[in-house]
Amino acid sequence: MTSTETTRRITLIEKTDELDVLSICAHPDDAEIYCGGTLAKLVKLGYKVGMCELTDGEPTPLNDTPDRRLEEARLSGETLGVHYRVILPLPNRRLFDNFDARIKAARIIRETKPKVIFSVSGLTSMASPDHYQAQFIIEGAVFYARLSKWEHYFDGLPTWRIKKLVRFPMEWGIRPQFEIAVAVDISETLSQKMESLRKYESQFPKDDARKQAFLKRVELRNRYWGTLAATEAVELCEITREPVIPKTDDLLSYLELS
Ligand SMILES: [Zn+2]
Repeated sequence: MTSTETTRRITLIEKTDELDVLSICAHPDDAEIYCGGTLAKLVKLGYKVGMCELTDGEPTPLNDTPDRRLEEARLSGETLGVHYRVILPLPNRRLFDNFDARIKAARIIRETKPKVIFSVSGLTSMASPDHYQAQFIIEGAVFYARLSKWEHYFDGLPTWRIKKLVRFPMEWGIRPQFEIAVAVDISETLSQKMESLRKYESQFPKDDARKQAFLKRVELRNRYWGTLAATEAVELCEITREPVIPKTDDLLSYLELS
């Protein structure tokens, strides 16, 4: 922990520094929106769960100080029950995929050794483009974390190879042509997820009808997807895999027409 970047990072929760799963995203409250129910569910199942935000998310129109947002993020993380939460010192509103950003995120991966990384997926039209940039930073960080002969960029930290990168859409889109979609049943933790989001009073003030409607839509989306999966509520994610084209010697048999 000698370099400047590690001294400027802010650790909000640190019950362990070895994780099963780590969510990485642009701003505090993003992960709560796209995978908060899944994170809470994994904690209940006994996994070590961490969260990492690339920026502190400030400034934002309705908030006064970065400290307030950080405290909200800590409370929200504790509501979900996560074991680790860290905020990296990359700039909100000016988040771009670049070498420095990838190295900062890769360092967290090398330190916490998660088996799985959760990332946001797709565009968030009309919202911050930081979300889209974060995807490229995360993809780069996953790669950089496992590259040998680069220890000098990581103060000697050894390499780490995750097993899977899982992407969650923040909006409605899912791209089944490239990915397989999996529904994570969050019926048990949906209320916990919504409670964690309400901790961000600076982002979702109780008397702001537009912001409250946004939160309602997050909940309704999880419930709508839940009906498609024959349960109360789910979060959808995409898991990349090698393309497998079904193969047959007997097409009619394959089509069950024979
Ligand atoms: Zn955001």
